[in-house]
Amino acid sequence: MRWQGGRTSGSVEDRRGLGPVGVGGMGVGGVVLALIGYFVFGISPDTTQQVLGGGATQEQHGQVGTPADEAGRFVDVVETSTTDVWSQIFQQEGKRYTPPAGVVLYDQATGTGCGLGQTAMGPFYCPNDQKVYLDLAFWQELETRFGAKGDFARAYVIAHEIGHHVQRLSGSMDQADQLGARGATSGSVRLELQADCYAGVWAAHASQASGGKIALEPGDIEEGMTAASSVGADAIQSQTQGRVVPDSFTHGSSAQRMRWFRTGYQSGDPGACDTFNASSL
Ligand SMILES: [Zn+2]
Repeated sequence: MRWQGGRTSGSVEDRRGLGPVGVGGMGVGGVVLALIGYFVFGISPDTTQQVLGGGATQEQHGQVGTPADEAGRFVDVVETSTTDVWSQIFQQEGKRYTPPAGVVLYDQATGTGCGLGQTAMGPFYCPNDQKVYLDLAFWQELETRFGAKGDFARAYVIAHEIGHHVQRLSGSMDQADQLGARGATSGSVRLELQADCYAGVWAAHASQASGGKIALEPGDIEEGMTAASSVGADAIQSQTQGRVVPDSFTHGSSAQRMRWFRTGYQSGDPGACDTFNASSL
């Protein structure tokens, strides 16, 4: 993937090097316990912290802008590219696209509008503060554990998270919540597959929307497919229900994820990403 000449917009909030945030002075052990409560028992983080005697999650504020290092700059370029693509698409539909409030880079653990964010959760989007959270250590995991190498696999992950932001704007997230409330477990799967499809839509338009500054190269789509098929990459916090759904249970099968990524890429049309009304996923 060629991206070096791509536009930046200073969309990154850099919390790297600030150190992991503690939860009310509990230290790392407490954080781990809080996370177990979060995932296994479905206890809201607030409740968990109260049980553990901690206070509120500490707030951290990093520098907002375009990071000087290449890895940080890459995140800004890709996020900015998704803004260019989705702005065009929304405009064609007579709507205005509001980009997310930023991509937060952090180490190990950080406070978010959805409770404590932690590396083990993988990249995720928090609908409450409209930010994407990413520990760049995940790229290593993407390569070694999931076998998804290369810039495009990383860009796919970012574009998938931005896809969740698009869903927040379009109302798909509420739709998934309603399905969940009716006891239909597939709401979050449909949400994930739609985000994969939206990542494909971004890939279809990235080059044109950047005036050729960003370009896919041979093998990139295969890279994206590998990433789509292998990554249970994000935990989503349901906005209205306020609960975290661990990834491994919520993402579709590898074949489904590749299929929807391909659908988005081949059509370039978010209208083709209607996983909520698709009779088969
Ligand atoms: Zn997702």
